[in-house]
Amino acid sequence: MNDILVMGHKNPDTDSICSSLIMANLVKKYGKDAKAVRLGNISKETEFVLNFLKIEAPELVEKVEEGQKLVLVDHNELAQSATGRENAKVLAVVDHHRIADFCTIEPLYYLAKPYGCTATILFEQYKALGIEINKEIGTLMLSAIVSDTLLLKSPTCTETDIKAVKELEDITGLKANEYGLEMLKAGTDLSTYSSQEVINLDAKEFCANDKKIVISQVNTADIEDVFSRKEELEFAMEKEISDKKLNLFMFVITDIINTNSKIIALGSDKELVEKAFDKKLDEFDSMLLEGVVSRKKQIAPQILEAAK
Ligand code: MG
Ligand code: MG
Ligand code: MG
Repeated sequence: MNDILVMGHKNPDTDSICSSLIMANLVKKYGKDAKAVRLGNISKETEFVLNFLKIEAPELVEKVEEGQKLVLVDHNELAQSATGRENAKVLAVVDHHRIADFCTIEPLYYLAKPYGCTATILFEQYKALGIEINKEIGTLMLSAIVSDTLLLKSPTCTETDIKAVKELEDITGLKANEYGLEMLKAGTDLSTYSSQEVINLDAKEFCANDKKIVISQVNTADIEDVFSRKEELEFAMEKEISDKKLNLFMFVITDIINTNSKIIALGSDKELVEKAFDKKLDEFDSMLLEGVVSRKKQIAPQILEAAK
């Protein structure tokens, strides 16, 4: 067993996978035995990055043993973390999300910054600690930032992210606009996934006021293409709602080209969505949210506030 496991959130996105690898590399520079692992399947977008770099995906971990030393990246909420985390030992967290229900018995390193991406925080750390950012690490960083900020277009994107990408372009010799768009597009191919897989590719669970809420998001270059599968997607959503006893399942289809999202909301508390956005769901339990692309900034806080 490796001494320290470095992991991102469940249903890992490109930031969770890349930042796990980047952070494990940093921890190893300090002579510690660390290994990046993942809590779920690799997305096609992340697969594009790993294939580009010709590196293996981190090993899949289903649950962690009691007392296992952990470093968490790109999350802190228990519902998004490894099964068994409550009995593991978290040594450090590097994250760019709200802090919720997080507590430990012992002191730890906790690095949180409201940047667009965990990898941007790690980019700063590498520089501050004088650790070399080679092409591979630089490409992992660039990929994660492009992914989380939708090519620097998301409202979560900060000046720090933009500066990091510029420097990383020099380090890697890549053009963020070209490489990044190719990477994002690789992630929009949903054709080989079943509906159940589609609604779980990037699903995050939240708890608010005893309500269990899942907000799931997919990227696309054509909203109507995904929406054409609405019937089977809804069937899969209804099943998740009954299996996991959810109050709300919100499925967000985000157009990465035009930066809009169309949502589908199901569950006994679907009116939370109407309250959050001050807009009625149409007869298809759907609404268009113009200019909305960020779950973290433009969707989850509004829903959680409505649930209070
Ligand atoms: Mg993430
Ligand atoms: Mg992230
Ligand atoms: Mg994301």
